Amino acid sequence: MTDCIFCKIIAGDIPSVKVYEDDAVLAFLDISQATKGHTLLVPKQHVADLFAYDADLAATVFSRLPKIARAIQASDPAIQGLNVLNNNGEVAYQSVFHSHIHLIPRYGTDDDFSIHFGDHSATVTPETLETTAAAIRAKVVD
Ligand code: 5GP
Ligand code: ZN
Repeated sequence: MTDCIFCKIIAGDIPSVKVYEDDAVLAFLDISQATKGHTLLVPKQHVADLFAYDADLAATVFSRLPKIARAIQASDPAIQGLNVLNNNGEVAYQSVFHSHIHLIPRYGTDDDFSIHFGDHSATVTPETLETTAAAIRAKVVD
């Protein structure tokens, strides 16, 4: 896609600092470095977000995750863990609309990275859970 910054990185038209590449995916350092080693894994094929993946593309992209995660972990003994994050849609903090997976190494609880999961369990009942799950189940298609 001509107007896509990650397609330009994949094509080599914009420089990037690569950590892994094969025929189907590229992994490179995120310019923001939320933490040191923050890496983006992208399919070389332009696809906007996870909603547009088919099973083959999912297998291609997600099968690369563990070895890149292990390489990041092994690259620095200070790394204690790793968050994997995939934002889909502007409301979900997606800003580049070429699908990508963030791998964010963690150096402790004061490494200036956080995720907030609101706890709404007090308002949830077995009935509301079942209604929610049924609505999702009805939409699962291969
Ligand atoms: P999103 O917000 O879409 O989940 O993440 C997009 C990420 O792409 C951001 O973390 C941002 O720092 C990164 N990014 C945007 N433009 C560039 C670029 O030109 N080069 C690199 N390496 N990262 C970029
Ligand atoms: Zn693209």
